[in-house]
Amino acid sequence: MPREARIAGMDWAQLKAAVRECTACRLHSARTQTVFGVGDEAADWLFIGEGPGAEEDARGEPFVGQAGRLLDNMLAAIGLKRGQDVYIANIVKCRPPGNRVPEPSEAGACDVFLRRQIALMRPRLLIALGKTAASNLLSSDASIGSLRGRLHKCGGLPLIVTYHPAYLLRNLIDKAKAWEDLCFARETMERLKAQAPAQP
Ligand code: URA
Repeated sequence: MPREARIAGMDWAQLKAAVRECTACRLHSARTQTVFGVGDEAADWLFIGEGPGAEEDARGEPFVGQAGRLLDNMLAAIGLKRGQDVYIANIVKCRPPGNRVPEPSEAGACDVFLRRQIALMRPRLLIALGKTAASNLLSSDASIGSLRGRLHKCGGLPLIVTYHPAYLLRNLIDKAKAWEDLCFARETMERLKAQAPAQP
């Protein structure tokens, strides 16, 4: 059976094992470990970053470095907490050497894993953190500036684009825009929940 079809039929345990053993792109050769994702597997919110950095590669969890601390603060600002109705994942599950942007072939090889995570989780809303996440999820090369502030669709699910926390650490001026994006996301979630309340 082709790889895509095999992965598309996996449950969580099978998917985690497949990611752990993956050698589909060259990123596998330099990793300490894969970084699958973290949080509530039935969450309404799915935040998607770029790829693991050094600390994430060492600990096996996304966004645990400096950018991760800012992401946790961003979550707290809209009443969310890592692990509680929130799941965090990345476009690629292995650290790109020197924290470079993942190559299209690397993101392409990992895409099927993220798509399966999304299908198993069925979140109400995706948040793309930064350009790599936005361009891979939307197949668009547009800037964050032009993509933010609107509701997009990814595989039938609503998606909002905002700045990557690592970018915000270097560009404090854009923090106010990220705050606007988070408020937009919170309002969107309220609307989505009102339209389709959770089944008892
Ligand atoms: N940056 C990302 O995009 N993802 C991480 O997990 C950490 C930093």
